[in-house]
Amino acid sequence: MPGAVWRPVRNYTPHGRTEQRGLVLHVQAGNNSPYGWFDDEESEASSDFWVSKSGRIEQYVDTGNDRAWAQGAGNRAYASVETEGHPDEPLTPEQIEGVARIYAWGAGLWAWPLQVIDSTTERGLTFHGAGGAAWGGHPDCPGEIRKAQRGAILARAAELLGAPAQPTPPAVPSYPSWPGRYISLRSPYMRGDDVRQWQQRMRARGWSIDVDGIFGPQSAGVAHAFQSEKGLDTDSIIGPATWAAAWTAPLT
Ligand SMILES: [Zn+2]
Repeated sequence: MPGAVWRPVRNYTPHGRTEQRGLVLHVQAGNNSPYGWFDDEESEASSDFWVSKSGRIEQYVDTGNDRAWAQGAGNRAYASVETEGHPDEPLTPEQIEGVARIYAWGAGLWAWPLQVIDSTTERGLTFHGAGGAAWGGHPDCPGEIRKAQRGAILARAAELLGAPAQPTPPAVPSYPSWPGRYISLRSPYMRGDDVRQWQQRMRARGWSIDVDGIFGPQSAGVAHAFQSEKGLDTDSIIGPATWAAAWTAPLT
């Protein structure tokens, strides 16, 4: 990459990059260049890039062709960047600039999209911990502070590319769809998996409620109290709005 210091290392798989989905952000959990560690066959580790706190960019692997050894099963499809420092330290402005330059370079060459992802399948800027055990089991890499700086990295990459950043769409809460019937207190009591699912959810929210799949007086009472708390119609009936709120309303 232009602007990076090219320091090829021994640890890589030749012709091992099969896809170009984007970039994985890492934290070094240490300081100073990892070149020696990555060039030591005993370590069995490497990354495509490293960015120092002062903004120096080192490249260790031929990113277009070869596979670095940074993130297990994620090495085939994503490039990797190590960032100097520790998880409790934010990336310096110079590091954000350096990672942004890497990202802009990949966006130009392989159309990496300017989007933050928390995924191991989509295209964009993801993080090491997203890959779980298959990616080596590093849940705290690079940590919450640096993960949250990915938006700033992409905003800067967009400036470098002269393109506006795609706004990250707000996360859509995923919850089971309303079962399609109004669950209410009647005789005989309504029962079913939908009742159980709602009871389970209310219990998980902290309500005292039996998870028996039967909508009796106790369930109706919880429904009424919940509706009152959330400003919903207090009819003690689980319709679409009360159902959805069980999953989406803030836990207060
Ligand atoms: Zn990592």
